Amino acid sequence: MSQRPTRILILGGGFGGVYTALTLEKLLKAEIRRGDVELGLVSRENYLVFQPMLPEVISGSIGVLDTITPIRRLCPSTNLYTRTIESIDLKHRSVQSTAGFGSRQHHLHFDHLVVALGNVTSFAGQPGLAEYALPFKYLGDALTLRNRIIHTLEEADIEQDPEVRRALLTFVVAGGGFSGVEAVAELNDFVRAAASSFRHIRPEEIRVVLLHAGGLILPELPKSLAEFAQALLMKRGVEIRLGTRLYGATADSALLEGGERIATRTLVSTVPSGPNPLVAMLPVKKERGRIVVDAHLEVPEVPGLWAVGDCAAIRDAKTGEDCPPTAQHATREAACAARNIVATLRGARREAFAFTALGKMGSLGRRSAVAEVFGVKLSGFLAWWLWRTIYLMKLPGLDRKLRVATDWTLDLVLPPDIVQLKTDRALGVRREYFEPGQVIFREGDRGDWLYVVTEGEVEVVRSVPGHGEAPVRRLGVGECFGEIALVSDVARSATVRAVSATNLLAVDREAFQAMFASMPPLRGFVEQLIASRSA
Ligand SMILES: Cc1cc2nc3c(=O)[nH]c(=O)nc-3n(C[C@H](O)[C@H](O)[C@H](O)COP(=O)(O)OP(=O)(O)OC[C@H]3O[C@@H](n4cnc5c(N)ncnc54)[C@H](O)[C@@H]3O)c2cc1C
Repeated sequence: MSQRPTRILILGGGFGGVYTALTLEKLLKAEIRRGDVELGLVSRENYLVFQPMLPEVISGSIGVLDTITPIRRLCPSTNLYTRTIESIDLKHRSVQSTAGFGSRQHHLHFDHLVVALGNVTSFAGQPGLAEYALPFKYLGDALTLRNRIIHTLEEADIEQDPEVRRALLTFVVAGGGFSGVEAVAELNDFVRAAASSFRHIRPEEIRVVLLHAGGLILPELPKSLAEFAQALLMKRGVEIRLGTRLYGATADSALLEGGERIATRTLVSTVPSGPNPLVAMLPVKKERGRIVVDAHLEVPEVPGLWAVGDCAAIRDAKTGEDCPPTAQHATREAACAARNIVATLRGARREAFAFTALGKMGSLGRRSAVAEVFGVKLSGFLAWWLWRTIYLMKLPGLDRKLRVATDWTLDLVLPPDIVQLKTDRALGVRREYFEPGQVIFREGDRGDWLYVVTEGEVEVVRSVPGHGEAPVRRLGVGECFGEIALVSDVARSATVRAVSATNLLAVDREAFQAMFASMPPLRGFVEQLIASRSA
């Protein structure tokens, strides 16, 4: 080995990244101790999320922190950089990230780079989904969804308008694959159990809908198990809409392909995932957005560059089939890549990646699951017991195992927790989407946002007693509205609705007033605008 340590850098703190580090720590113990090898791992979070248990965070049957494990404890010999990676420079063999406080750039150099950045939720091309649909991939997503469910129950309990109540008590999940099915099962159990603590919500008012484009949910499983899962969910009150695709969303509805809309305030989309932007930018060969690697998991055109997990296009050396994006595969690929890096350093023979999945399992909530393990099909309680036992064993860290086992035991006897955590401060600026004809705000509403049209057109109308509505003006791209109520602190003086599909930039009252007070040119512009519009 050379004078300076060999630097192995891993990007991503998911199953792929963490299991690469774990295996390298084991295989290179002596080299790391002598200072011949340095291991580094860069990830946005300092913990590994055990995603298979994420759906249980919705119902609270597992504590929020119990599905995650600190990477520092798992990989004590690896330097952890909890940072957002900005770019990867293959030519100079360095990775750039930005410091958490301030905006200093930071460069990390490598001899070997393992890319394990996973994929990202992408709602590109689907109007309104980025603004209103809740993704379901990260720990924060599960927590947000849980809080949203409790929030809608709180609102519904005191809401008198039947239409608004209906939207509040309708929960829609799009995607009938594993994560969608597990999420809808937990959501359904939770919302129905939690609703019993609300005085004015009747069980029959709750509607939970699963949208699935195919003819049967869980297409990854044998037909008999998928049918079992479908029948069980329906029996428990989930309305399954087969052959139905989500097209878009507005603030209060899910828009389906074909024009139907379902009024809802809670839409979860588990369907689309796109390539991580860092991976998309890498100048290497890709297949469906994933990095193409050889049988040893190295990128053929860049020696020393490796890719594992959801961001890698890997072909199984035994079957020749594409490896699916699962945690089971990511952990095995990670271990294989680590062994091959060590073999490369030592000039030894490298191995080709091959792995036959041990089985597939999906939890259906309330002591039921479906599983196919070593070719044996199981459903119901036995599958559920197996699901829990296997995932408990696989959960990294003894302390986490103990915590989850305790959570599960208490969950058998205690009612669901319905505390809503309000952690998010209102955003200063957000994007909004409106369908043609949809009202943005009504005359008489409280004025709490200023809007700028970024795409489409809106019409401003005012009510004329006894004569319906009178048109005031139409506004297009680059024009703003809603300023009168914000500046004068009065109720909205007109109704605004979208004429065509419209995207808006919305600035909240606090941000607007801060800018209005401290930017004289802006103040001048807004005052002039109000004067001309009032005239
Ligand atoms: C709800 C859900 C349930 C699932 N259930 C199962 C299951 O039961 N069984 C199974 O086998 N699989 C399951 N999966 C799939 C499994 O979780 C994934 O296949 C696996 O997590 C992929 O691991 P990965 O390391 O490739 O990617 P990820 O786990 O996505 O990790 C990517 C890492 O890269 C980091 N990162 C990304 N971009 C940046 C950046 N710019 N800067 C810094 N860090 C960055 C992320 O923070 C993350 O730590 C499930 C997935 C979900 C979403």
